[in-house]
Amino acid sequence: MKSDNEKLVSQIISETAGFEAEKLLEYVVNKFGSKVALASSFGAEDQVLTDMLCKVTNEPVIFTLDTGRMPQESYDTAQETREKYGIAIEFMFPDYRRLEQMENQFGPNLFYESIENRKLCCNIRKIEPLKRKLAQLDAWICGLRAEQSVTRTAQAKVEWDRAFDLIKICPLADWSTEHVWEYIREHDVPYNKLHDKGYPSIGCEPCTRAVKPGEDIRAGRWWWEEPIHKECGLHLGKRAENEQDDKK
Ligand code: SF4
Repeated sequence: MKSDNEKLVSQIISETAGFEAEKLLEYVVNKFGSKVALASSFGAEDQVLTDMLCKVTNEPVIFTLDTGRMPQESYDTAQETREKYGIAIEFMFPDYRRLEQMENQFGPNLFYESIENRKLCCNIRKIEPLKRKLAQLDAWICGLRAEQSVTRTAQAKVEWDRAFDLIKICPLADWSTEHVWEYIREHDVPYNKLHDKGYPSIGCEPCTRAVKPGEDIRAGRWWWEEPIHKECGLHLGKRAENEQDDKK
């Protein structure tokens, strides 16, 4: 028998079948109001979604995980976005006590030393603040696309996020890179200038590099790791839950 959550997701999937991205956003904003939010890291997809959200509501709820290690260009994009759309963006910070303990024990560049250390850093700087924010919501919106990596090929537009216990909406799941950039150009959307310097995917400054021609979109993220490990735990569903349980 289906749980209430599965029934709700099935209902949304059937009611939004065939919806384009902007129409899907309008639907979720009408359904969830201030209980649905966009998680933005100011990459190209997030900027497209911000532009669309501002067209379907005057009060979009947008937040970012400020890890403290973001590149300056991401802060510049945040500032430009606030000013262009006249919107608030909520900055979520990590718990400073856990950060102090981590850096004092493992050093500031611990992520290069092992996958375990890298995941610890992502857990403290990203997952815990994300959990705090998502606990206030019924649904979250993110810019995942199936084309982005081997870990995202089955990305659905609407799904139950088992790791965080709420509905996850990915309106651009079936968009191509070209489609994203066509939208940005056509609608004059502010974008992160690192995209002009060979960064198709942008995360924290020490864990992101430019990619070479022909390389995979996410080859510059945690470039020292195997592709199958290249997620920070924000989008792993049950796998993220299990990994975090292992650390307890
Ligand atoms: Fe830490 Fe790098 Fe993860 Fe950012 S991407 S939280 S710096 S390990």
